[in-house]
Parts: sequence; structure tokens; C-alpha cells
Amino acid sequence: SLEAVLEDVESIVMPALTHWQHPMFFGYFPANASTPAILAELLCAGLGVQGMLWQTSPACTELEMRVLDWLAELIDLPGSFRFGPAGAASAGGGGVIQGTASEATLAAMVAARRVHQDAPNHRVYASTQAHSSVTKAAMICGLGCQGVRLVPTDEAHAMDPNALERMIQDDRDAGCTPVFVCATLGTTGTGAFDPLDAIGPVVSAYDAWLHVDAAWAGSAFVCPELRAPMRGVEHAASFNFNPHKWLLTNFDCSTFWLNGRQRRDQLIDAMSITPEYLRNEASESGQVVDYRDWHVPLGRRFRALKLWMVMRMFGAEGLRAHIRNHVEIAAWFEAQVERDRRLELAAPRALALLCIAVRDGDPDRANQRTRALHEALRADGRVFVTHAVLPNGSPEGRYVLRIAIGSAATAQQHAEALWGRIQALL
Ligand code: PLP
Repeated sequence: SLEAVLEDVESIVMPALTHWQHPMFFGYFPANASTPAILAELLCAGLGVQGMLWQTSPACTELEMRVLDWLAELIDLPGSFRFGPAGAASAGGGGVIQGTASEATLAAMVAARRVHQDAPNHRVYASTQAHSSVTKAAMICGLGCQGVRLVPTDEAHAMDPNALERMIQDDRDAGCTPVFVCATLGTTGTGAFDPLDAIGPVVSAYDAWLHVDAAWAGSAFVCPELRAPMRGVEHAASFNFNPHKWLLTNFDCSTFWLNGRQRRDQLIDAMSITPEYLRNEASESGQVVDYRDWHVPLGRRFRALKLWMVMRMFGAEGLRAHIRNHVEIAAWFEAQVERDRRLELAAPRALALLCIAVRDGDPDRANQRTRALHEALRADGRVFVTHAVLPNGSPEGRYVLRIAIGSAATAQQHAEALWGRIQALL
């Protein structure tokens, strides 16, 4: 019976879960859920439609096109990233919901390789601090790890554009073809922002594809005052972020846009193959979008319902208030760390992400003490934080605690409770 199964959920499954929606969850990056998104998920599951072609459920495609245009406007992506009023027939690129940022990076890399399909020895670039999904995409694409160049970063852990240019030129001189550069806005370790305005012209000069991975930080761009890192985004061929991280839309929902019709066509060229059983009049008219050509899977859920309900029920101001609240809490936390002589910030605060370490003149001892604090917090069990190892300090790198404030339920009192736990365990 349902009752018996639910009892087992309570007694067997629940105790073995990590509670990502708990207000004291500060690990990794957040994975927000909200009532409108959960209701939309139920609707989506109940309707059970497949949106692989426009014809297989027209509203599934058309709602997705519309909400992706809304969201692009909300984070102030240039108009060339939107379908615009002409929809499928427009000169704009338009957007699509992918499952994850990893899949978005893979789609962009596949399209970039297709553009240069006749050129030898493809090479792709990302900073040493980029997410591992860039290298994974290269592995899946058949480039292997040796096709990936990891570009050094500056003291703020952001990509060094001069080093990028040198590496690209060296590869060109060696007979390789630079095809793809991934710039990260909000790196996983410290939330660093690669300088798009300096990287963009370099990538354009070599006719490569610039993909922007803003998986976590992209949600913050709903707030005009937090958009400075987007300067130079007009150079990007594609842009991606995860509303399933910090924008109240539960997993999975990763939004991916192409800049202009040419980029859209290049992606579709790389992904499209039409067996007889998928042929239909609407597709052949060229007037509709068939999202199966924008990513790896054929079948696709009606994920746009989630975004639509989230955007309608929270509204632009509701979404901004959610982000601002966490950024303010993080600023408060930062001030506490700065006042405490036993701790230090290991990197500048990025939005609502803090990297902290125990202060100690000896880098090895600092690592040991920070690790011990982390272990004590884990053993305590009332809070959840994760770690990163940064490329500075001791030869093994610097062990830091990452405090990512962003769980939908997290409020000031929870940050105070975390601070209290840290004080008690130091
Ligand atoms: N890119 C960045 C910068 C990330 O921080 C993450 C995950 O945290 C990813 C990509 C991978 O995200 P996803 O799980 O959506 O593939």
C-alpha cells in the first residue's frame, strides 16, 4: 500500500539523505526548490508529454521559446540571444532548456568542432579553475584530455587573457586549430569571474567559439547591480546558467542560449539527423523549432512549465529579493570573518560564496587546522559545508571551507547559527 511505502520512505530513505533544502545546507552550490516549481513538476509529470518536435506537443516548444526569451531579458542578455517576436523565423539565436550545464558545454563544443570540421588537431581552452565538465565534454567529443588546454589564472583565480592568447598562438604555430574557449562566470572553487571583455576579442580574432559557463552565478544577473561580470558578453557564441542552482527552479533546468541565427544554425547542423519516422510537415516548413536538434536526447520533458510558473509567481522583484537576501547574508558573514583574527578569507567573496581558512603563518599547519575544523563541522552534523583546494599557499594547494549561501530557506539566523558552530569548534 501507499502508506507502507511512505512509511519506508520515512524510516529507511530519509535518514540516509543529505538535506539539500535544509536552511543549514551551505555545501557545493545550492539546488533550489520552490512551491511553484514543484507544482509545475507535478503538472509536467501528469501531462507526460514529449516535446522532441514542435509537432509532438506545440505548446511545449512554444512556451519554452517564450520563457527563454523572458529569462534572457531578465538577465539582460543582448537581443541577439533571443528569438524575439518573430519566434522561430527570427534572426536571433534563441534559447533551450538543457538538463545540466555539463550538457550545455558539450552541445557548444560539438557545434564549435563542426564549424571547423575540415581543420586538423582541434584544441579547446578553459582556465585551470573551470569546471571539470569542460574536460569531460572534450573526452566525450573524442578530443581526449590532450585536446584541452588549461589556461593559468591571476591572483583572483580568473583566467589570464594574455596567457590564453599565447597558448592559442603557440597551438596555431604547432599546426593545431583552436575551436572553443569556455569562460567561466563564477568558478566552482571560489566564484571567480573570467574577464569576458578581454577574452572575447582574443577568441574572435582566432575565429573560435566562446562559450560562457555561468552555471551558478547566472541567477544573480537578474539583479542589475550584480551584472558587472557580464561586460563583454556580446562576444559569446553561447551562454548558459542553471536556474536549478539558485533561481528557485528545482533540478533539472539549465538554460542555454545561442547568440544570433548563425550560431543557432551551426548547433542544429551539428545535432540534426532526420530518420523517416520523424518527418512531418511542420518541420519541413522550416517555420518551427524542433528542440531535439539542440541537444543530445531526442525525448524531452515539459520543463518550461517550471520556469514559467516560477517567473510568474515570484515575478522579477521576487527573484531579485531572493538573490539579494543571500548576497546580504554573505556580506554579513564576510564581516564576521574579517573581524576574527583566527580566520581569514582565502579569496574575495563572490556574491554569496565565501572561502575561508584558519589563519596560520605556516601553510601546512593552516591546511591541517582548516581540515580539522571542516571535519568537526561534519561530525557535528547540524550544518553542511564543503571544501575546495586553491592553487596557492602550500605545494599541495590551500585547503579552504566553501560556504555557499543560497538554499531557498536560508535566512540570516541560519548564517548566525553556522557562525556560532564555527566559533564553538575553533
Ligand atoms: N559549471 C560550473 C561553474 C559549476 O559550478 C558546475 C556545478 O557546480 C557545473 C558547471 C556543472 O553543473 P551541472 O551539474 O549542471 O552539469
